[in-house]
Amino acid sequence: MAKQKNKAKYIFVVGGVMSGVGKGITTSSIGKILQSRGLSVTTFKIDPYINVDAGTMNPTEHGEVFVLKDGYETDQDMGNYERFLNIELSRENYMTTGMVYKSVIERERNLEYQGKCVQVVPHIPLEVIARIKKTTKKNAADVAIIEIGGTVGEYENILFLEAIRMMKIESPKDVITVMVSFIPTPSTIGEMKTKPTQHAVRTLNSTGVQPDIIIARASRPLDEKRKEKIAIFCSVRKEDVISAPDVESIYDVPLNFEKDYLSDILLAKLGLKNRKHTGALEEWAKVAKRIHQATEEVHIGVVGKYFKTGDYVLSDAYISVIEAIKHASCVIGKKAVLTWIDSTDFEEAGGEKKLAELKQYDGIIIPGGFGTRGIEGKIAVIQYCRENKLPYFGLCYGMQLLVVEYARHILGLKDAHTVEVNPDTKHPVVDIMPEQKENMRKKNYGATMRLGHYLAHLIPKTIAEGAYGKESVMERHRHRYEVNPAYVGALREGGLVFSATSPDGVLMEIAELPKNKHPFFLATQFHPEFQSSFLYPHPLFVAFLKACVKKK
Ligand code: GLN
Repeated sequence: MAKQKNKAKYIFVVGGVMSGVGKGITTSSIGKILQSRGLSVTTFKIDPYINVDAGTMNPTEHGEVFVLKDGYETDQDMGNYERFLNIELSRENYMTTGMVYKSVIERERNLEYQGKCVQVVPHIPLEVIARIKKTTKKNAADVAIIEIGGTVGEYENILFLEAIRMMKIESPKDVITVMVSFIPTPSTIGEMKTKPTQHAVRTLNSTGVQPDIIIARASRPLDEKRKEKIAIFCSVRKEDVISAPDVESIYDVPLNFEKDYLSDILLAKLGLKNRKHTGALEEWAKVAKRIHQATEEVHIGVVGKYFKTGDYVLSDAYISVIEAIKHASCVIGKKAVLTWIDSTDFEEAGGEKKLAELKQYDGIIIPGGFGTRGIEGKIAVIQYCRENKLPYFGLCYGMQLLVVEYARHILGLKDAHTVEVNPDTKHPVVDIMPEQKENMRKKNYGATMRLGHYLAHLIPKTIAEGAYGKESVMERHRHRYEVNPAYVGALREGGLVFSATSPDGVLMEIAELPKNKHPFFLATQFHPEFQSSFLYPHPLFVAFLKACVKKK
């Protein structure tokens, strides 16, 4: 008789006091420690905003848009889950208020509620619950971990908290709630204060939900006294207050959780006792240690434009790129130091001098981007890298602009451009595809780019093929424009190598210069950073970093 699969278990992760203290990393790390107890895990992110997906949001507003294999444009936390857990998530693992309402309204219009009055409660939380259960089953997961964006007490996420309450009534033994809460240490007092967390728990209680575990995020590890205080005032056991101090590397968080025996506590609460440690976490710890051991630095300049917002520099927009560099640097045993460089700096007076300053870096990355601001600066940087044999790695827009630079300065097509910036250029070396033109005409901007993973064939004996060690790869895309097939012949004749193309050979996926001309001058139309994970770094990032180290 086939072994009956156990009932799935559900862990909700909610935030207290304030956001931005690591709910995503907590969710990912809980997943990791449960995986290391032999459980299969799936994760969900719930964002309380009305946008149906994250695709239309400005990165300065929302951080990076993470693209899933199936092309769905989601929150950056989905990237964290994939990087930690080595799982591939789908659009069904993501939810926004807008998406949930949209499907409830559509179902109502289709008479699927059989004439009932469709109400915010219970129909919206029921839809949330149905989605979570269906996807958990589809993924054959033992445990689903569901992160609810924002913090408790926000009007926006109340319906999702309601979903927890309703699920808990239905199966109290299968559902637990973890609250990630911030414990401040005001400099004037010099002491950790638990009161904000006590208030946050009260607020959560007012929705009918009691946290089972409290993850106490603080600058330092929590002492016993603070644990006791939180336990008494927040009605949890002292053991269920987990110390989560600031860390130098996010990949240490699962290891820190286990110092407080979190996986044992979770298993006991979910009725999944007596599971051995598989040893997977020891493997993880070995790699995590390399981050601290590396002393020799490799300096990477990242040239982009979404960096400045008010007085702050916002690197959140490139989180997957940052993490992919970290993963690769673990392989080569170096400490990657990133510097954010605003491409508009190269367009102002003194741009030439600024360009010369690039020689202090061991390599340059130009990540994805949109629009016209800072573009000439980026092109100037690419030209500098090419002419000075400085390793260059372009991602998406970084490849399109490489092609523009090459066409202008090697093929002599002076006004070559992408039509994204100059729709009237005489030489549209990067052009919009016909179906995309139609989308733009209809102002159909949401989820209409070339999105998600596509197959690319690699050309033998190229740098790309050498790095991957394969004939073909699946990589994730997010762009409207492509290298114009009409110019591919001329670019090739001019010495640019297209080392990967779509299977029909029409779309260019990777451009590079041969090794005898440049140590590393390579760019991808897709986003390799979306498929790099901590234990499986992306081969192109590894190849780039190796070239940077060599340049040193
Ligand atoms: N703006 C370019 C396009 O739409 C590149 C997009 C990107 O870098 N993700 O094609």
